[in-house]
Amino acid sequence: MKSEDLFQEAQKFLPGGVDSPVRAYKPYPFFADRAEGSKIYDVDGKSYIDYCLAYGPLVLGHAHPQVIKEVSEQIKKGSAYGVPTEKEIELAKLVVEKVPCAEMVRFVNSGTEATMSAIRLARAFTGRQKIVKFEGAYHGAHDYVLVKSGSGAMGMPDSPGVPEDTTKNTILIPFNDEEAVRNLIGKEGEDIAAIILEPVMGNIGCIPPKNGYLEFLREITIKNDIVLIFDEVITGFRIAEGGAQEYFGVTPDLVTLGKILGGGFPMGALSGKKEFMEMIAPSGDVYQAGTFNGNPVSVTAGLTTLKNLDQNFYQEINDKGNYMRSEIQKILEDLDMDFKVAGLGSMFQLYFTDKEVWNYEDAKSSNTEKFAEYFRTLLDAGVFIPPSQFECCFISLMHRESYLQKTLEAVEEGIRNVKKAI
Ligand SMILES: *Cc1c(COP(=O)(O)O)cnc(C)c1O
Repeated sequence: MKSEDLFQEAQKFLPGGVDSPVRAYKPYPFFADRAEGSKIYDVDGKSYIDYCLAYGPLVLGHAHPQVIKEVSEQIKKGSAYGVPTEKEIELAKLVVEKVPCAEMVRFVNSGTEATMSAIRLARAFTGRQKIVKFEGAYHGAHDYVLVKSGSGAMGMPDSPGVPEDTTKNTILIPFNDEEAVRNLIGKEGEDIAAIILEPVMGNIGCIPPKNGYLEFLREITIKNDIVLIFDEVITGFRIAEGGAQEYFGVTPDLVTLGKILGGGFPMGALSGKKEFMEMIAPSGDVYQAGTFNGNPVSVTAGLTTLKNLDQNFYQEINDKGNYMRSEIQKILEDLDMDFKVAGLGSMFQLYFTDKEVWNYEDAKSSNTEKFAEYFRTLLDAGVFIPPSQFECCFISLMHRESYLQKTLEAVEEGIRNVKKAI
């Protein structure tokens, strides 16, 4: 069956025809047949250079031979045990070695579980209830954080079904705004358990922190006994070996990881200083558990992936990111269009706005109809980017020079089409 027919069929059995809202776009999404390296192939016989990469995890590209080999060997030995394995220690050691704030690790199944558990831990540690999150920040789909969340085709509103009693303890402020943090802490600092943030916002496009902003957050949270949580589900192992905390030289108390950590398999983790981590059951009494926690298949994929990520790797993908951003900027200048190229390292996005983008409000000024036209042109040209303005494009090791060139040609055509429509 072709994608169009599959989507018809899917809608009968899966809400909206998909298993995660961002995957649905008009008129219908392509259905995947297979993927390899930087390419994804659909059931209609078309192939695309993939900048979605399953929304970030696949830094080594799809179906990396070494990952496949190690995972296949693991599966033959069993796929879940319900007892500990040596590989969990090995992966935890690697995380501790790479990530500055990491002293111990709890492996879970998703980024969502990681942030949920990190927030519970911060509340237990401080004995306080309130948490602060930034407008447009996405920390997964659980109740504590599903308030003015990023991610999703619609820019994601709040959700019905989330109890007010839960979200009344979630305080929202704009990103990159020191005054907003100072005012809030001045008023209710003693009730705040944690500030949770994406150090580089990756679920409303891509917004880096202003110079000194993360340092500011670190300082003010220390002064007020507030737990600082970096949600590095995207940035962890992507912008540097030790994630954003290494890249910016700011060490949080807790970090949440996911995506790349699982090497293309479902996985998340929560990590941080010992004094926090030892509060988790069974060494402490903060409850956290999961049937598939530390799953041997995910752990194997994660281990194999992380072992491949060295300084050269980061040099290469970050260079590619810089190259893409500067070339897209040149295209915009040549065509006399004042849209905004954003991103950092191997993450990039184009906002269809003439405003500088430093927070959620700025990002929302982007014209999503123009984005849709751009997306459609790229797709027709064989380039797949996430179908929403409020997502971020990712580069893998397998995005070769010639593919980047082909992509830039499609980007130019996309911007020309947008210009024509104005
Ligand atoms: C993807 C993401 C999550 C949620 O991870 P899942 O594995 O999808 O549950 C949390 N935080 C950030 C920053 C993310 O990008």
